[in-house]
Amino acid sequence: MQMNVEYRHESGFSAFFQKINGKSVLLMYDVNTAPYALDIKAELQKNNATVTDCYYQDEELIPTEDKCEKAYALAAQTDYVLAVGSGTLNDMAKSVSTRREIPCGVLATAASMDGYCSKGAALMRGGFKVTDEVHTPEDILIDLEIVRNAPRLMTAAGFGDIVGKFTCLTDWEMANIVKGEPIHESSFALMEQARSACMDAFDGLTRYEDDAVAKLISALVTAGLSMAECGNSRPASGSEHHISHYLEMDFVRRGERVPLHGLKVAIGTLVSMEIYHYIKNNRISFDGAERVYALVDKLPPIDKVKAMLEKMGCPVRFSKLGVPRETMEKTIENAYTVRNRYTVLTLAHELGLTEKLKPILMEKYY
Ligand SMILES: [Zn+2]
Repeated sequence: MQMNVEYRHESGFSAFFQKINGKSVLLMYDVNTAPYALDIKAELQKNNATVTDCYYQDEELIPTEDKCEKAYALAAQTDYVLAVGSGTLNDMAKSVSTRREIPCGVLATAASMDGYCSKGAALMRGGFKVTDEVHTPEDILIDLEIVRNAPRLMTAAGFGDIVGKFTCLTDWEMANIVKGEPIHESSFALMEQARSACMDAFDGLTRYEDDAVAKLISALVTAGLSMAECGNSRPASGSEHHISHYLEMDFVRRGERVPLHGLKVAIGTLVSMEIYHYIKNNRISFDGAERVYALVDKLPPIDKVKAMLEKMGCPVRFSKLGVPRETMEKTIENAYTVRNRYTVLTLAHELGLTEKLKPILMEKYY
């Protein structure tokens, strides 16, 4: 399936409008995205689409069964689902449209995370967080004016998710050296180029300039495309994401509000980079060590990355993210178990470095 990633031009989203002509669209939105939803609704109607509203009067929408069932029922008479939002609404739209076997799309309202075109939908079922396998959206609609004006913490989180591609790609190369895991060259290159373009646009991003925000959201969308090309999430998710998932499970277990995905990834990236530097600086020996040290030399300086994250508004200490001290300790010990994927967390565990790393990481990042 060809994914249509379309930026708003003077004529709106012309390819999408052409496709939707004569169709019946379920439009999903909440309090925060309602103004944008009403605008696109008028445009859809102008382009001969019939629109059914699925409006959630929630400021912080939780994707429970009830909320999903509402959309599922309304989708019965429609042939396309369009979410106006970012993470949650997009996930709900993917889930509902997958069950109804109709296509879906999203009008992105924030450059906040890299899951726009992922095959997973994070939902709540019976009070637990589950990730369902769903189809990807056919259309990703981007209006830079909307994305630029998203809450700044959301843009910070999106940037954090992209910074995470430093460690995730290094993990991949490291796993190739240490475990012989193959690298899918083109999806690796795709992600690396998008990350570089976004990092190069950093100054503009701190001023929320159109071009820079476009580089960020493009990198976030590219993460999804490179995962699709590769067939798994390796190009976009490594140790920093495992740390994020571990923290997330703990927030859910404690019944607390979960901080934005990219903010957890950002701090996970700093931890993973720190572990790489520790391994190199202490000349820890293992098969392939010299080649792994060379990878560490390619990483940007930790202080530089930390300063960039801080400038964007990302917390760089776990305590600032609301993580209890014991949780951070447990994260250092156990985050490698989150997925069966070889990362620097697995390497550190196998080398017996966890207890040595713990006080260093706690001191710098708690
Ligand atoms: Zn991510």
